[in-house]
Amino acid sequence: MDHTKINLLVKLQHLDNQIESIVSLQKGLPEEIDALDEDLLFTTRQIESRKKIADDQLKQRSHLHEIINECKNKILNFKEKQTLARNNKEYDALSKQIEYEEKEIAQAEIQLQDIVHAVQRVEDIQKKGRQLIAENRYDEITEEMMPDDILHQQLEDLKKQLDQKREELESIVIETAEDVDSLNKKVEEQRALIEHEATRLLDKYDHLRSGTLRNAVVRLNRNACSGCNTRVPTNRHTMIVQGGFYLCESCGRIVVHERLFEEAEG
Ligand SMILES: [Zn+2]
Repeated sequence: MDHTKINLLVKLQHLDNQIESIVSLQKGLPEEIDALDEDLLFTTRQIESRKKIADDQLKQRSHLHEIINECKNKILNFKEKQTLARNNKEYDALSKQIEYEEKEIAQAEIQLQDIVHAVQRVEDIQKKGRQLIAENRYDEITEEMMPDDILHQQLEDLKKQLDQKREELESIVIETAEDVDSLNKKVEEQRALIEHEATRLLDKYDHLRSGTLRNAVVRLNRNACSGCNTRVPTNRHTMIVQGGFYLCESCGRIVVHERLFEEAEG
């Protein structure tokens, strides 16, 4: 049996393991950053939609006040004309116009009241939210209960956390970039070599690593596959000790003697 081929593959696994351990220094930071990003987006949207409602209410209010002022001016005008009315018919016609404008004012005032009530309702809901927060009853707080100031504070906190995590990740990436680059180069060279010498072994290796599994080649540990802890049949031990490999019947990993990894490290 040609053992040099498996040695080449163990070396490849050793290099991939090194990259793996460097990447694990990132300690799930990329995932954490993604989650924070999502929270930030959600909070930003909440704040924006509240602002839009407030802006619309403000516009609507000033529009209604304008209408009321116009109506009042018209009424003044009509009243002045009434003093100059030449007969009852003219006077009554002006009265009707005044009446109409008064109705317009009343309608606008109802709409203004509606806005005031809507604002009051939001204030009451947020007050309830603040009370729940004070009592630590966070699970009972709905989206709209979150007080404006706390929502803004939340946004600031999220931004700070994100900046911190991004900086942390960036510094790790910068620190390790050189090592990762050089390891990637070595991996490429090693793969080219195996491609030439033992294509089928490389295919097996890549196939095993195509899912979430990273360690395709593992050590024999206490007479078992160290990937899944299934015992390796005794009649295969000799071959492994001699530097050959065994395909685990349970997980399919390539099991080799520990010595081969030591050699790959050296
Ligand atoms: Zn196994």
